[in-house]
Amino acid sequence: MNRERTLSIIKPDAVQRGVTGHIIQQLIDGGLRPLAIRTMRLSLEQARAFYAVHRERPFYDSLCAFMSSGPVVVMVLEGEGAIARNRELMGATDSKKAAPGTLRNRFGTDIERNAVHGSDSPETAQAEIAFFFSGAELAALSS
Ligand code: ATP
Ligand code: MG
Repeated sequence: MNRERTLSIIKPDAVQRGVTGHIIQQLIDGGLRPLAIRTMRLSLEQARAFYAVHRERPFYDSLCAFMSSGPVVVMVLEGEGAIARNRELMGATDSKKAAPGTLRNRFGTDIERNAVHGSDSPETAQAEIAFFFSGAELAALSS
């Protein structure tokens, strides 16, 4: 048994399209339980801090402008192998190349506006969860 937690974000394009409910249902059907959910709007500074790992990449400024362009839904998902499972359900980064039926295939537009974010390792999951949720908040929600 390898019960994990991962950080998921429903990005501004998907929230704007009104598909938040569809995405959450697909994650639940895929075996992931939303432990905590918050709707919020990232400031440009928060988006820049969250995606700091990409600060040297040519798409960084555009990505941060996009991520702060409207409300997002941030979630802690829990389940067996949650980090890899979430990435599987998301599909490839480029929505145009994402496998049929994946979240990015169904709800994304291109390589930037790709509907969802997911942590990519145990280390990033821990850091990204802590970016949005306090330990006390999560402890109160844990059963
Ligand atoms: P995420 O970290 O959002 O879950 P990912 O791990 O699949 O996505 P990353 O390489 O970490 O992909 O890129 C972070 C985000 O930056 C992508 O999800 C996408 O929104 C944007 N992005 C990545 N590559 C490009 C690119 N070549 N052009 C424009 N935007 C890009
Ligand atoms: Mg990434």
